[in-house]
Amino acid sequence: MSSEKPASFQSSSSQLPATVQDAGCLDIFKGIFRSTKPQETYSEKGPEMTSTHPSSSSSTLPPAYESLRQEMSQLTFNGQGDKLSELWERDEFIKTVHQAIDNVSAELRDVSMKLHENPELGYKEYKAHALLTDYLERKGFQVQRKAHTLDTAFVARAGNSNKVTIGICSEYDALPGIGHACGHNLIAISGVATAIALKTVIEKFNLQAEVKLFGTPAEETSGGKIDMINQGAFKDVDICMLLHGANLDVIYPTYLALQSVEVEYFGKASHASASPWEGINALDAAIMAYTNIGLMRQQLHPSLRVHGIIKDGGKAANIIPDYTRLSYSVRAPKYSQIDVLKKRVERIFKGAATATGCTVKLTWAAPYKDIVTNDALTRKFEHYMNAEGLHYPSKQEQLSKLLGSTDMGNLTHEVPGIHPMFNILNLRGEEDLSAGMHTKAFAQAATQPLAHVATLRASKCLAMTGVECILDPEFLRSVKHEFEAAKKTF
Ligand SMILES: [Zn+2]
Ligand SMILES: [Zn+2]
Repeated sequence: MSSEKPASFQSSSSQLPATVQDAGCLDIFKGIFRSTKPQETYSEKGPEMTSTHPSSSSSTLPPAYESLRQEMSQLTFNGQGDKLSELWERDEFIKTVHQAIDNVSAELRDVSMKLHENPELGYKEYKAHALLTDYLERKGFQVQRKAHTLDTAFVARAGNSNKVTIGICSEYDALPGIGHACGHNLIAISGVATAIALKTVIEKFNLQAEVKLFGTPAEETSGGKIDMINQGAFKDVDICMLLHGANLDVIYPTYLALQSVEVEYFGKASHASASPWEGINALDAAIMAYTNIGLMRQQLHPSLRVHGIIKDGGKAANIIPDYTRLSYSVRAPKYSQIDVLKKRVERIFKGAATATGCTVKLTWAAPYKDIVTNDALTRKFEHYMNAEGLHYPSKQEQLSKLLGSTDMGNLTHEVPGIHPMFNILNLRGEEDLSAGMHTKAFAQAATQPLAHVATLRASKCLAMTGVECILDPEFLRSVKHEFEAAKKTF
């Protein structure tokens, strides 16, 4: 990680008037230069979407900003004649990002459909790994396959320096029985699209920056990002971002912290008719645990979740079961709340063992942490989605919706990050209850051209959020400052 100013950014912002620095100089210019909304056009032929951002004239610049404008006009990029302010004025960065993604739209659609047609479970995403890494290599990325000792993880990098490193994540695992019902085929291509756009911008404008796309397996099950974090995969990225398709638009998602447990009861088998009194019934322990957790729910705060199934309830009706196994998860809005909840369910699991004379073994999986949404990055993403015609409900309203859990939460505890969710069912920002995530209907929706259009639209905005981090050291500093302050509350 580095907070150093890119060498290509050849003027010190410390020379700018204090009030301007506080406001974020690039924002001021963009606010002035880009006052008109982009015009979207949708091609009849396919899922292409282009946006045109008409340049506005600097003649509207208020006199107070004239000295700043002159100062900005001195900023140049290495090897380029263009001035930073002129590039912004002409929306060169936005045009480049849009063009780069539109150019590969058909290819990404093909990748997305192939992933969807070949759903693979966590840590078994071999075809997806091959498809994505081959494609990224063809696009000029340096690709590390089987990264961080995980057979289906990868890291694809591009750029000419690591002064600023923008991390993006792709996921590509599916769900048992219902395939890509979480739309991870779309998450996969959103990461690729965003990385391609950033690579194009970095190379075209000769920016001292790097983009790293992380292929992160097994989000639905074990949490590949947790393994990758433990192996230091993200230690040199400045930020990391991931997009997730949904049936609504949310930039402040409340993803719950989660920890799962396998509960095993060990009893003693006996003939269920001839000598049941000689047995110790492990199924009785499982049923007691299941029932008592149900009773406990009345005393749980509505924001907490405990849910589970009996995976092994015995082998035959005429044998007193000597072994049963349950799978449970506990969830809470904050990772710091998980421990208390764990203790409550552990009392129940152990109590059922005591009551029945069984022994019990609890095996807790690595926890998924809650999402810590970086506000500064989110507002930047929102700014670009607004320009695409998408407007969000209030932050409070968004936060009030409890969602699932994700290993991206763990990553947002390590580096500043965001996890915006975009609606794949319509582009208007209206929640659609006809196809919730983890349903067959959502899997079907993830194949539709509209979902592809929505994915690329959000990818363009995510890429521009990354571009802002590269171009504006003050902004990146504010992102990191916010993260450091938030860490104290983890
Ligand atoms: Zn999911
Ligand atoms: Zn998902």
